[in-house]
Amino acid sequence: MKREAMFYERVKDKIHCFLCPHNCIIEKGHKGKCNVRTHENEKLYTINYGEITSICLDPIEKKPLRYFKPGGQILSVGSFGCNFVCGFCQNYSISQYIAQSEFVPKENLLETILTAKDNIGVAFTYNEPSIWYEYVYDCAKLLKETDPNAVVVIVTNGYISEEPLKQLLPYVDAMNIDLKSFSSKYYKELCGGSLKPVLKTIETAAKSCHVEVTTLLVTGENDTVEEVEEIAKFLSNIDRDIPLHLSRYFPRYKLENSSTDIGFMIRAEDIAKKYLNKVILGNI
Ligand code: SF4
Repeated sequence: MKREAMFYERVKDKIHCFLCPHNCIIEKGHKGKCNVRTHENEKLYTINYGEITSICLDPIEKKPLRYFKPGGQILSVGSFGCNFVCGFCQNYSISQYIAQSEFVPKENLLETILTAKDNIGVAFTYNEPSIWYEYVYDCAKLLKETDPNAVVVIVTNGYISEEPLKQLLPYVDAMNIDLKSFSSKYYKELCGGSLKPVLKTIETAAKSCHVEVTTLLVTGENDTVEEVEEIAKFLSNIDRDIPLHLSRYFPRYKLENSSTDIGFMIRAEDIAKKYLNKVILGNI
């Protein structure tokens, strides 16, 4: 469903969207980099409000969250669109394309969350939650106002501006944030983004809710001892108890590098454990 977007301003005959650090300046009739925000009639619209492509009751460990409500099942939902263009995306069919979806009003999603058996809340995942911000925000707020015990989880690339993040955080219990690399070059060349805003998101979110971090170790791109050490050091400066998921990469979408070496995964775990109390290997 098309709905007027939040976090934009008119700049002469163009629109400046400041939802994410891309800060797109969008001409009339054009879309932002995420492909889901469109400038029409001097307003900015999001085209994926309430448009659900995937919905599933998942174990919370699958988000992945290892140290938040262990053993819980959580209703996980996603739409389409992303503000990154990672060549190794696991969900490229919904992140990089306008996928087939079904409109679900927020009240209907609320009812499903509250009536699903053994469900602890809702996780916004599969595609990038900040890219369907308005729906995520509306649903999170409505759920918390209706049942403060239900939990809201966000699984994100962390590429969101400070103001929308701070507005959403009061309704969020836990986040898994990707820290894909500690290199600006990696973020620029492989993801089409930048590193610093992601670091800022982790710092800000960790003050407000439970945060776990995931790093996909991609063969030939970020699978070095130095990079794992930098990531672990950065997190330990915030809190040594932030769990770090080191995830094994497999060839996917546009990237054909070989799968991450298992020996390196084990070495990376040892290095990260010098700085952090909770390090988990994933996809192995
Ligand atoms: S949310 Fe989309 S339109 Fe807005 S700044 Fe980010 S990429 Fe650009």
